Amino acid sequence: MSNITVTHADSGLVLTNVARTTRLSPHIVRVTFAGGQLDRFEYKGFDQWFRLAVPVHDEDRFDNLPQRFGVGGLLKFLTLPKGTRPVIRNYTIRQFDPQTRELDVDFVIHGTEGIAAPWATSVAPGTQVAFIDQGCGWAPVPAERALIVADESAMPAALAILRDMPRGARGDAVIELFDERDAQDVEAPEGMTVHWLFRDPSDKPGTLALPALRDLDIGDSLYAFAVGESALATGARRHLVNERGVPKANVTFCGYWRVGRASPS
Ligand SMILES: Cc1cc2nc3c(=O)[nH]c(=O)nc-3n(C[C@H](O)[C@H](O)[C@H](O)COP(=O)(O)OP(=O)(O)OC[C@H]3O[C@@H](n4cnc5c(N)ncnc54)[C@H](O)[C@@H]3O)c2cc1C
Repeated sequence: MSNITVTHADSGLVLTNVARTTRLSPHIVRVTFAGGQLDRFEYKGFDQWFRLAVPVHDEDRFDNLPQRFGVGGLLKFLTLPKGTRPVIRNYTIRQFDPQTRELDVDFVIHGTEGIAAPWATSVAPGTQVAFIDQGCGWAPVPAERALIVADESAMPAALAILRDMPRGARGDAVIELFDERDAQDVEAPEGMTVHWLFRDPSDKPGTLALPALRDLDIGDSLYAFAVGESALATGARRHLVNERGVPKANVTFCGYWRVGRASPS
């Protein structure tokens, strides 16, 4: 479930190549993309995300993918021949260097299941990919405090938002991971307190983050952004709206993935 608004950048479909991969920590692989059409890509910062077309067959094509991935774009995608159709997965831009025009995506390596995560662990430099920009989910309404709630899949979004939000921002970021070795350096405004929580790997995402929300002082005026595993995102929203009286319009939430279910797109 999600209430994020899709705001496509004008750059539309962008074809590019894998430049290199870097194992940042036990469960995070950074894939750096460079070249191709990245010279005309519009970077908006924050949690800007895209539909990544992951090649799965030798014959996969990228040039006939839709420019937008709304309903029309999805229908166009589904009519493409299966043997030449890449798999679509959603990823956040962790950072983009305007000088080199290199773009980094941090993939959570969650085992051998799935398409995108195993691909990121083994992809060779030079491999072509494409992506369709979806804009930023972070859409703050005027409020005195901000709250970010995230799991490991949303750590790139949380850290990029903390990096790009106004330096005078005040509030909290609750980031729950299943391995503390995956935590990254944070460039946050002084008034934003970052709470790192490390659940047991056998526990469900949200096991620590949701109870931690109950103890937070959220003030009288809050904008919240809750993203990550579906139960974490919806549980955070339910708590804030039903138990803390935060208006629904002040909470952006999105299930980035779901335990036991492959991504639908
Ligand atoms: C807006 C948005 C931004 C996102 N940004 C990022 C990002 O920057 N980095 C990132 O790593 N993910 C990100 N995700 C989540 C990512 O799209 C999903 O994790 C996706 O399911 C991964 O695809 P896959 O092919 O590896 O696995 P799938 O084929 O989708 O799933 C296969 C199995 O793996 C499980 N699974 C999927 N993801 C995870 C996970 N993270 N942990 C444990 N089990 C999992 C599923 O439950 C399923 O059982 C984002 C999602 C959204 C909607």
